Amino acid sequence: MLTWWQIYPRFLRDLFVRAFTTGLRDASLAGRITEGVWRKALLRLHDSVSVCPSCSAARFYDTDEPDAPCWNCRLPCEAPPLLVLPSSTIVLSVGASVTAHHLRRNRDYQTIEAIVEPHPGKPGAVVLRNRSPVAWDVSPEGEPADQVLPGQRLGVRPMTIAFGPTTGVVRAPSRRPDVTRVWGQALAPPSRPSQ
Ligand SMILES: [Zn+2]
Repeated sequence: MLTWWQIYPRFLRDLFVRAFTTGLRDASLAGRITEGVWRKALLRLHDSVSVCPSCSAARFYDTDEPDAPCWNCRLPCEAPPLLVLPSSTIVLSVGASVTAHHLRRNRDYQTIEAIVEPHPGKPGAVVLRNRSPVAWDVSPEGEPADQVLPGQRLGVRPMTIAFGPTTGVVRAPSRRPDVTRVWGQALAPPSRPSQ
């Protein structure tokens, strides 16, 4: 745990500190960390998985510490695209998924409503594939509103998405100068971005 302490987002470090300080002294529900709180924190951790654009190391993107440098190469990381939902925020990195629970808070973590895939034409960029049975109404910034049918993919860029049960907002850097360099560098040594 000590070796990996810095890799974890602040909310999880704070929870550990509480669990092993006041949580040990005060066994009441007010003092100790309940199972539900741990579960929520681990779900949030799962939604924070990201990749460093400079060295491709897996990392957790911490919305509480957006300027934290990469734990591996120590370079500052550009904020990844995020899907902000009423009760959670998901880092849109390849393999991330939106579950029924994200949209309905119904504890159904198995039903996948959307999944993040690599963009087929833009290295380093991602798309969101509609894996739900219903169409989404999307309003990309500066573009006309559109629909994304079941099975279709949507290029990730700033927009709102009406999923049906709830609406999410995609926050993404509108300009990604590094985007063509990001892909395929998994084995390259970290290098300082040119700009
Ligand atoms: Zn890095």
